[in-house]
Parts: sequence; structure tokens; C-alpha cells
Amino acid sequence: MKEMKKFILSTSIIKGIIFYDESRVSRLIEDFVLHIVGPIREEKPDILFFSTKTDGIWDEKNPLVQIRLSYDYEESQKKSNKARDYQELKTYKSESPDRPGARCPFGYSKLSQDKKDHTLIENDDAPIVQFIFYLYSFGYSDKKIALLLNESNVKSPSLESNWSDSTVRYILNNLWYAGDLVWFSRSSYENSKAKPIEERFLFPNHHKRLISPQLWATTQFLRSKKKNKDRMDSPFVLRDIVLCVKCERKLAVKNMTPAKAKKNYQYYYCKTCKRKINLEELHSYVFDDFTGRWGRELNNQTRTIKGIYSEWKKTIEAKSAENKSNVDKLRYKLSFVKPENEFYEDIKESFTLQIKSVEEERTKLLNVLEQIRVLSEYGEPLELISRFKEDIYKYNNEEKRSIFLIAIKEISIDFIRKNFIEINYRLTPFVEVETTIDKLNNKKDEVSI
Ligand SMILES: [Zn+2]
Repeated sequence: MKEMKKFILSTSIIKGIIFYDESRVSRLIEDFVLHIVGPIREEKPDILFFSTKTDGIWDEKNPLVQIRLSYDYEESQKKSNKARDYQELKTYKSESPDRPGARCPFGYSKLSQDKKDHTLIENDDAPIVQFIFYLYSFGYSDKKIALLLNESNVKSPSLESNWSDSTVRYILNNLWYAGDLVWFSRSSYENSKAKPIEERFLFPNHHKRLISPQLWATTQFLRSKKKNKDRMDSPFVLRDIVLCVKCERKLAVKNMTPAKAKKNYQYYYCKTCKRKINLEELHSYVFDDFTGRWGRELNNQTRTIKGIYSEWKKTIEAKSAENKSNVDKLRYKLSFVKPENEFYEDIKESFTLQIKSVEEERTKLLNVLEQIRVLSEYGEPLELISRFKEDIYKYNNEEKRSIFLIAIKEISIDFIRKNFIEINYRLTPFVEVETTIDKLNNKKDEVSI
């Protein structure tokens, strides 16, 4: 491919390039646009591209071409998922030249058979996608969801095989379902790990979303929580939420139940002061308080959330304006450093790094602001909050754990005051946004420059 590029750039009579199928040029679809098409266009803007798969002139900026490339990319990702599942045979089979065209994301179909029409519509599988997100938001693991789908004979996206945890994970991580079209999501050619979202090439609100922003935010939060090997089905449903007031330390958990014992001896305990509280004592206090609170305050809660959104917006806008002014100040100061200065390069580098770091923080803030905008426009998170209203004792461990994680910020226990318990509830179910805002508010007094 590089040879061909060299040849094109060094030969003046070439007027056009015809390729067989852009998705076959590279496994990483965007490579072709970045490393081949881009440089050729830059040097020879008049060269025309054609593809056997598209009528007329091929243009990577055409949204239809982009959608096609993005499906091809997903297709290629699906293949690598399958490979990870040791299904090499099937992968090789689907690599054969007569494989059918790239498939749509699971839950969508093409509107018409016309090759030129790329419009997608939700199909009968769409509720399955929604169900997967719903189960995950209730604490179930990718594996358990796959198991449930297989037991219920739900048809999997790959007709040849059953649901696996990687298929479920793939669906849960696919921004397509949140209405966005993503490009350049791989870290690099060698590294298939997903890039941080702010570095990806995103077409937000590209199509109608299948998953509400509220459900999306919840599943993303639980995904990041589970990265720390959180066992959602453990009976210690309040672990890392409970704090020892005196030692300011999170409580650890211990199961001291002897084998065959009739009674459970499970404790939350402080590693510093060695004091402990029985699991049942703590749980029954918290469960009762939780039930009482949501019985009383549910109606107020949905009303106050609107006010919270606007408070959050103000906090972020203020911080982001401050960042912008810091960048301006840094640039202004840098402009006074003379290139003749013997430390010029070092000083310049130090300024550049500072500017970069402040700008990165600002990008993150603007992303959170966008998230708040989408959440607030979508209306009240009624479904999430209505989970709190149900009888908490009826939920299983995973469900309880997921509910407490999104409803409670912290529980503090004062062993000296006869195990006095205080519960600090969250303002909204959107943990990650709330945590960002809390951090900003705590940082407010610090001087950044
Ligand atoms: Zn302690």
C-alpha cells in the first residue's frame, strides 16, 4: 500500500485511483483515510477516487461513505471479538470472498435493499439490546446476561454461535446505541484498546438513540466500578460505601462464618481501630432508612433534579471559563520570553505542557457539560428512581448493590457513639457527573496558577 502511495505521488499522469473495496484495504478502516487518502489529497488535490462498492466519485467526507466505513469497522471489531472466543474457524469462514456485505449494528436493519440507501431502522432485536442495558444497570455481569439470553433461546447477533460475555460487552460499549457514530476508537494499529472518548472522532446525535442517556450513564458508571474487580453478587452490598468516622477510613469486610454454621458471622470492620459492626445490624438500619426516605421524598426528588442540573451547569461553566482565562494568561506570559534567552526552549516547553494540561481539563469539562445538557433535556430519570421505591428486601445482592451504588454517596459509622450511623444520599443517580462536580467544588478554594 505504501509502495502504491509512493508511486502515485511520484507519477504525474495519474488522474484517478480505483480500489476494489475500501473495507478490505486495511483491517483498521480509518488507516486508509488517514495514511493513504489524506496524504495523496494533500499533494495532489485533483486526483479522483473510485470504489467498486460506491457509484460515482468516492469521497471520504461523504456521510454515506463514513457510515459504510464505520459498519465495516464494527464488522472487523466483531471479528476480533470472535477470535478472542476461540472461534477461529468461523472467522476464517467469514473472511472468504463470498461473505455477505457488512452487517448493521445488532438491533438495526437497512430500510431498503437498495445499495445506495444507507438508512437504518430499529428491528425486532432492538428490545433485546435495551434489555441487555437494563440488566447490566441492575448489576448483572456480562457473563450472567449471556447465560440468561442463551437459556431463553434469544437469537445471538452471530447466527452461528451463542451469546458470549464478549458479545454482550461489545453491545454495552457501543456508542451507536447512545445515538453517536464513532471513528478512530482504537488506541493504535497495534493496540485495540479503546481510546478515551475525548480523543475519538465522534458524530454526536448522528441517529435516534436506542438507550436513554440515563441508562447509558448508569451502565458506564457500573462498568468503571467493576474495573476494580467489584463482585456485585457478594452479600456485602455496602462495601466501600461505609466509613469509620474516627479513623476516616473505609470499612473492610470479613466473613467469619464457620462451615456448617447456622448463623452468619459477617462483619464490616475498620482496619485501623479494629472495631466492627455486624452485617445484619448495618444492613437493616440502612435498608429501613432507605425505604423510609424514598417513600417520603420521591416526588420531591424528581422536582429537585432540575434545579441540580442548573447548579451543575453553573459550576462547570465557571470552571471552564477560569481554565480558558488561565490558558490566555499562560500564552500572554510566554509571549514575553525572548527566543534569545538561553533557557528559551525549556521555558517554552514548560509553558506548552501547562497549557496542554489546562486545555485537556477544559475538554473534559465541556464533555461533562454536554452530558448534563443531554440528561436534562431527556427529562426526569423516573425509571431509575422508581427502583428505589420498590421493597429493597426483594432485590437480590447484585440488584441491591447496583441500587445502593447509584443512590448512596457514603455511610459513616461512629463506633464510639454506639454505632451511630449517618447516610449521605446522592442528589441524582448520575454518579460520575456528581463526583466530578464534587471534586470541582472542593477544589474551588485552591489557586491554580
Ligand atoms: Zn476506625
